[in-house]
Amino acid sequence: MAPVSSEMRALDGLKDDLDPENLEKYEDALKKITGYLKDSSDPWVRARAAYYLGETGDAATIYSLLKALSDPDEGVRKSARSALKKIKIAQRDLKENYETLICWRDFFKPKKIHTPEGHFVVCRVCGHSKFLEKGIKEVIGIVGDKNYPYRQEDRLFISMWDEESKRARNADIDVLWVTDSGDIDYGWALNAVYQRLKNDVTRAKPLSEIPVIIKGTPRITREEIEILQNFGEIRNEV
Ligand SMILES: [Zn+2]
Repeated sequence: MAPVSSEMRALDGLKDDLDPENLEKYEDALKKITGYLKDSSDPWVRARAAYYLGETGDAATIYSLLKALSDPDEGVRKSARSALKKIKIAQRDLKENYETLICWRDFFKPKKIHTPEGHFVVCRVCGHSKFLEKGIKEVIGIVGDKNYPYRQEDRLFISMWDEESKRARNADIDVLWVTDSGDIDYGWALNAVYQRLKNDVTRAKPLSEIPVIIKGTPRITREEIEILQNFGEIRNEV
């Protein structure tokens, strides 16, 4: 038997990094494995790289796998074919729950990409399917609340503004809540959130389709209401 090549050893060493809980390692490992599939001169290495990509079930890998379907080596083509099959199986659940998916990594909704092998569901921002979580019917963006994102049954709450860092975040929200908070500069916060969302085109809904609910009695001025008028209908709730 031929000795295991150093390339193969390096490739095998990446397998343990394919843990989506560790985003950085995961991304890095995917990139490197994809590189082996594309560039290795050893068909055994390419075939195994395709196998590892299939094991992730992550549709972020499909373009490399689709390309590998026309690899000059038959073993590589077979491996790519079966990897694609695994990804399609992982996709079934996502397709069935398409309307309630959200990427827990960046809080964006998915999109469908169309390929000669059918359509695949991936996050519209990060391009992975691995981080899509199902069962979210409403994504609520909050200005005023200082909590971190959390989930409550089929609702997801996302804090859109961090008072400490003075930063607004982007997310695919269905509704914006402005809630009571003791020490927040609403003018600054609402304007920053508005700018952040306005300048983004990846989101599923335009701003005018995102209603605003003012909860309780946050101290907001007429000018701040004017910012909110760029969103959808404004309602007051106790
Ligand atoms: Zn994502």
